[in-house]
Order: sequence, then C-alpha cells, then structure tokens
Amino acid sequence: MALGEFDLIARYFANCGPQRTDVRVGVGDDGAVLAPPLGHDLIAVVDTLVEGRHFPPDSPPDSIGHRALAVNLSDLAAMGATPAWALLALTLPAANERWLEQFARGADRLLRRYGVALVGGDTTSGPLTITVQLLGFVPRGLALRRNGAQPGDVVMVSGTPGDAAAGLALEQAQLVAAEDVAVALRQRFLYPAPRVELGVALRSLASACIDVSDGLGADLGKLCTASGCGAELELSAMPLSGPLIAAVGRARALQLALAGGDDYELCFTVPPTAFSQLVELARVSSTPIARIGSVTERSGVVLRDGATVTQFSARGFDHFR
Ligand code: ADP
Ligand code: MG
Repeated sequence: MALGEFDLIARYFANCGPQRTDVRVGVGDDGAVLAPPLGHDLIAVVDTLVEGRHFPPDSPPDSIGHRALAVNLSDLAAMGATPAWALLALTLPAANERWLEQFARGADRLLRRYGVALVGGDTTSGPLTITVQLLGFVPRGLALRRNGAQPGDVVMVSGTPGDAAAGLALEQAQLVAAEDVAVALRQRFLYPAPRVELGVALRSLASACIDVSDGLGADLGKLCTASGCGAELELSAMPLSGPLIAAVGRARALQLALAGGDDYELCFTVPPTAFSQLVELARVSSTPIARIGSVTERSGVVLRDGATVTQFSARGFDHFR
C-alpha cells in the first residue's frame, strides 16, 4: 500500500466518529478499554460486507461506510440495545485515499448520528471486505428476543419493505424507472436508516423482534420458528411506498416487500393490549409502523389476500431475488 497502514489508520480512523467518556483507551493500543454501565447487559453483534456479494462493485464509498454500520445498528435495534462502541476490520485491495476519505465520511456520519465511538479495528490488504462489530447496552434482562411471540399477538413492521430490493435492482440496471422514483429507491438501498430509536422504545412493549435483512417473509418465519408459532399476514395491509408501486406495480411491489432483502426495518410482535401504547409511541418517535397480521398457533407464515390464503415460502419467491 502506498499509504502506510499506520498513517492510514491515523488519518482516516483515529478521529472517525464521536468521543465517549466510557472509552478509557480507544484506537492506538493493542485493545480498547471500555467501561460498560452498571446494571446493564452488553449486546454484541458483528456483520461482514463483501464486495460483489453484499454490495455491487464500485458502489459509492460513503454508502459502503454507511451500510457497514447500518446493518449492525439494525441488529442492535432488533435487540432493543442502545449502541455505544464499534470495531472496524477493513480488508482493502489498495490504499486509495479518495475511496478511504469517502468511506470514512459515510461511517463518521452514522457513528455521530447514534453517538457510537470507533474504538479499534484491523487493517489488512486483500479483496474489499468490511467487518464491523458493534457493542451496545440494554438495562439488565430487557433485551428483545425473537422467541417471545404468542398466538393472538399483533404482527408489525416499520417503514416500507421492498424499496431496498428495488433500489438494488436499479443499481444493477436490472430495472428502469422514472428518475425521481429511481433516486428515492436507490437511496433506500445505499443509505438504509436503522431503526435504533424504535428498537429502544420497544424494550418494554414487544413480545418478539427481528430485523428484516433477508426479506420480511423469511425473517418473520425465523421469529415464528424461534417462538414456536406461526403468523398470518394480510396482504392488503402491507405498507408499500409510492415510489415502489410506481416502479414495479402493486403485484411485484408485494413480492419485493415479502421476499426482497436489505430493508433493515424491524418486524415485531406485541400483545393486543399493548397496541394503543405502541401507536402513541410510534407517533412520538415519528417512526412509521404498520399492523400487517397476527401470530397464529399453527407454524409457518401464511398470506391472506381477501378470501385466498397461501403458504409463504422463501423458495417460491427466489426468482425475484
Ligand atoms: P495490532 O498490530 O496490535 O493488531 P494494529 O497495528 O493492527 O494493531 O492497529 C493499531 C491500532 O489501530 C489498534 O488500536 C487498532 O484497534 C486500531 N485500528 C487498526 N485498524 C483500524 C481501523 N480500520 N479502524 C479503527 N481502528 C483501527
Ligand atoms: Mg497488538
């Protein structure tokens, strides 16, 4: 690498993100020394993005920096955690200063937005791969889990799933759409907004929670399996965005909402008695949420479309990926 590893770390990552007083030792030593708050559980998540697999080659570098953090923030959100610390393992084909500067800017924006300190990492050369580990806290015993859904609970989802999958298809020139629609959808793939505030607010309300990364149908299926139950989704209640319907029409929009990926929305269940509290909370935090179905005793995810009921299977939707 033209730029030495130490210069690279010092220039782009030593001052990336905000400072926090609970970081005793950050970037620069062999390890970070961190002071978790008393009375809390530590929640740890890690996710890797590989070029060509998790993002198209030649993606905007600030989007790669953004997404590397967003996918991890989304996992923490699904656990109800407040994010605190990040570690960044970067494998780079070359030390391209323009690329690094934009990558670091994308990461810095999200780190500051959520008050997360970058406390360490690793830098090596090789095929472009970004691994981020995030650490966060939940008051002891209050972490959200996938396994608490009960028959009769209401199934909810945040935002408008399906947009990111259409955005990726546009990025890869597998789809064309009017310019304003295309810009809106691409944005949803390139710069997903993790639902951190919603996750924290759900701590005392949701019976189960998962973040939607592999498609709403598949991820709700995982929540149901973990909870030992099933779910029925009402297709007419699916929150579809205007740009998505404009780009692909309602039928395909529904398929993308159920089986597309990369949404980073939260899918969660609440007891019916908590529903009104939830609506108020969503209003206060101005996070869009929609009631899309209910938890059933019978396992599996079924889709109701008027009088017609079909079984959801991710495989049946694979050709839309
Ligand atoms: P070591 O040789 O002990 O593994 P390194 O030379 O790899 O240490 O890293 C030196 C310091 O820089 C360490 O504190 C490490 O956590 C930090 N660091 C390395 N790469 C990154 C990165 N991409 N982002 C943030 N911190 C990093
Ligand atoms: Mg060392």
